Amino acid sequence: MNVPFVDLKSQYKSISGEIKEQIDEVLENTAFILGDKVSQFEIGFAKYCESKHAVGVNSGTAALHLALVAHGIGPGDEVITVPNTFIATAEAISHAGAVPVLVDIDAKSYNIDVTKIAQAITPKTKAIIPVHLFGQSADMDPVSEIAKKHGLVIIEDCCQAHGSQYKGKKVPVTTTGCFSFYPGKNLGAYGEAGAVVTDDDEVAAKVKMLRDHGQEKKYFHKYIGYNCRMAGFQGAVLNIKLKYLDQWIAARQNAARLYDQLLDGVVDTPCRSELASHVYHLYVIRTPQRDAMIEYLGQANISTGIHYPIPIHLQAAYASLGKGEGSYPVSEQAAKEILSLPIYPEITEEQIEYVCEKIKSFQAK
Ligand SMILES: *Cc1c(COP(=O)(O)O)cnc(C)c1O
Repeated sequence: MNVPFVDLKSQYKSISGEIKEQIDEVLENTAFILGDKVSQFEIGFAKYCESKHAVGVNSGTAALHLALVAHGIGPGDEVITVPNTFIATAEAISHAGAVPVLVDIDAKSYNIDVTKIAQAITPKTKAIIPVHLFGQSADMDPVSEIAKKHGLVIIEDCCQAHGSQYKGKKVPVTTTGCFSFYPGKNLGAYGEAGAVVTDDDEVAAKVKMLRDHGQEKKYFHKYIGYNCRMAGFQGAVLNIKLKYLDQWIAARQNAARLYDQLLDGVVDTPCRSELASHVYHLYVIRTPQRDAMIEYLGQANISTGIHYPIPIHLQAAYASLGKGEGSYPVSEQAAKEILSLPIYPEITEEQIEYVCEKIKSFQAK
């Protein structure tokens, strides 16, 4: 048996007729940048997120960057986020001209440790970017409380958490959140795409201008903007895939339940928050023999991943933060022990059973 880490092909096959029809419409209308398909998706995705606006851009990284700029965050400002995220969260802060200030994570949820945020706040702090890592919302009530107390903006990194709920509200839980539609994400385009989702009319209007050279109308540029518009093809693909998102999330949750059952007492399985639902963008186990397990599973044709092997502060790109080994011990220890198992809506019970069997035989060695 062969178990890939993700399988985008089998999902494509299940919707290829609809996709080809929609792509053909984009071709016929030559609506290659923004256009009707993107507008339609923006309306549908805002509704899906139980939010007022969605603004389509060309990546999750751009969504985070433009959301920060739209909130007036720039040089001289500090933005709080976590060390164990994809580099893009920190890059967006740097691209806005601000400095990322890291706060260690909770050892169980892998999300921001809300008890450590207050001590990271300085007079320069302007915003917090909690990351809903692996598909489970961070504990947002304490984050909101701290933000309110210190007058900070919250921008949620929802790039792995489409459809995750916190206390019954889909992310973003607060006013503004940013999404990626990178092909491997739970809602994936067939190329690069992202969105800023917000209840704030002004932020939505400003992101719309910023993504399109800062123009209010053609050739009237209110801001020095960017070229970050969503492509028409991606809007067309995302419109179709949005219809299936809940069904695909349910399939991921079923796969996770089976992993939970079969790996109970064998390895450390993902914790489930009582406040948030988990959409399992990634199914992450933990074991001190992580590297040997990767090797063993690889020999059995099982592909795995590490999300992420090197925390932000230990990346060469962020040497300037001046935070060496030992600065964020919970993140550093997790980076050495976490292992992402194959998960996607189309994974079969037999494949999951096979993976778990191999993990058990590795542990029994
Ligand atoms: C994927 C991802 C991003 C970046 O999204 P892109 O669309 O690849 O630019 C940002 N943050 C997190 C947590 C992600 O997983």
